[in-house]
Amino acid sequence: DAVVHWFKRDLRVRDNAGLSQAAALAKEKGVGVIGVWILSPQDWEAHLVSPPKCDFEIRSVEMMRKELDALNIPLYIETVPARKNVTTRLVELAEEWNAKNVFCNLEYEPDELRREERLVRMMVEKDINFDPQHDDCVVPPGSLKTGGGKQYAVYTPWYRQWVAYLHAHPHLLNERPMPEKNPAGFREKYARLFGAQKPELPISKSLTEEEKERFHALWPAGEAAALDRLERYLSEKVGQYQATRNFPAQNSTGRVSAHHAAGTLAARTSVRMARDVNSTKRLDGGIEGIRCWISEVAWRDFYRHVLVHWPYICMNKPFKFEYTNIEWEYNDDHFRAWKEGRTGYPIVDAAMRSLNHTGYMHNRNRMITASFLAKHLLLDWRLGEQYFMTHLIDGDFASNNGGWGFSSSTGVDPQPYFRVFNPWLQSQKFDENGEFIRQWVEELRDVQGKAIHNPYEDKKGAEVAKKNGYPKPIVEHKFARERCLARYKAGIGRD
Ligand code: FAD
Repeated sequence: DAVVHWFKRDLRVRDNAGLSQAAALAKEKGVGVIGVWILSPQDWEAHLVSPPKCDFEIRSVEMMRKELDALNIPLYIETVPARKNVTTRLVELAEEWNAKNVFCNLEYEPDELRREERLVRMMVEKDINFDPQHDDCVVPPGSLKTGGGKQYAVYTPWYRQWVAYLHAHPHLLNERPMPEKNPAGFREKYARLFGAQKPELPISKSLTEEEKERFHALWPAGEAAALDRLERYLSEKVGQYQATRNFPAQNSTGRVSAHHAAGTLAARTSVRMARDVNSTKRLDGGIEGIRCWISEVAWRDFYRHVLVHWPYICMNKPFKFEYTNIEWEYNDDHFRAWKEGRTGYPIVDAAMRSLNHTGYMHNRNRMITASFLAKHLLLDWRLGEQYFMTHLIDGDFASNNGGWGFSSSTGVDPQPYFRVFNPWLQSQKFDENGEFIRQWVEELRDVQGKAIHNPYEDKKGAEVAKKNGYPKPIVEHKFARERCLARYKAGIGRD
């Protein structure tokens, strides 16, 4: 009587491969579509999803429910406390609704792939066709191979192939059709599913009233907000992306990552719309800022392709085996100082405080703080990876793991291990006038000129910093750099 679409990390009605397929089949069969969203608190726990991100998903689901409602499509919502019961419950629901076809979009992490495989088998037994679709990546994982037929482990040649592949298969960028309205009578028949259950944050992910207000103002949820942000970005700022993207104070990047992570915006939509405003109407050539922006969205695909081919990276292992034996420091005081933004390195502290307050961090700052944790403090990069996940509104396993692997030199196509960012030089280069630092580190607002980057090296700067209780650097740069090089070399067995 119905075709079901199971929403997961694809909280949108437009340009949604699985939903679109479900709707097309329903039309062919002359039946209606039912959407289902299962809130699994254990899943959120297991994946370390941050409270603001859980809240963002719930807000997005509520908005999606309204959009679906206008199409006479019910969105059935249920909380299933135990993660292992999600599959059984889905099968039961499909049977209850007498649905012979269930669609969803693939998630590529091993647990999720195993779950989907189990579902195929469970549903076959009940004579139901379970049909997961590629949707999350612009180019489906496994499509791009090196000349020798292998998965790429280096971004640049992979990216060239990615562009060529999309130019050769332009349909991959086409917008997936919107579902049509469910047939008349569907609403009456399934009245009990419309508006059933209001999703609520589990206690472990709750936000205070102040936090709710803050995150809601910063991060409007849902696909309409996503498209609005993307359209404005593409018409106002993307042209300058390449020239400005590395300067955190400029607020010049797209800020759509929370939408990509929750699936309120498809990466495909972003790439297509950017291509369409390019003067060449291609992914390459034309306006430099657009080409560059598309190549950043491609990194998201790259890390997913890597994850599908080398799933052990989801199991707390570094991509590069030889980096398993680095001897890390165990220093809770240092870890706490890093988390709280009290390391005595102003750019690091400003960046960490911005994360704690907004749930977001600029990419340049993510690299600086990640490098600082793994190399200056020599703390295990996985501690930082987890801290980011539990605080980011755009937390995304593949991109976060990829970013940490890059910055700590343990990942795929990483920064070479001997390249240790000098936080002061990074600060001088990317926050030249200290605007970003002054925004976030109150204690240093009155520090004048260049002293902002390293106040204790300047007489007046030191006075202000000391008076306001700003800490001295918790590790000495030169010592930290040498310790890092020695420990990394010993760990990976180099002289
Ligand atoms: P823009 O610069 O406007 O880029 C557009 C889109 O491209 C982004 O929204 C994002 O979807 C994608 N993108 C851009 N850069 C990257 C990248 N390096 N890797 C993968 N995708 C990218 N990104 C996340 O979405 N979630 C994470 O959990 C995450 N963790 C990171 C951790 C570290 C240590 C590092 C170094 C990077 C991490 N990134 C992560 C990548 C990047 O920092 C963010 O995607 C970006 O800052 C988001 O801001 P934006 O939307 O303004 O990006």
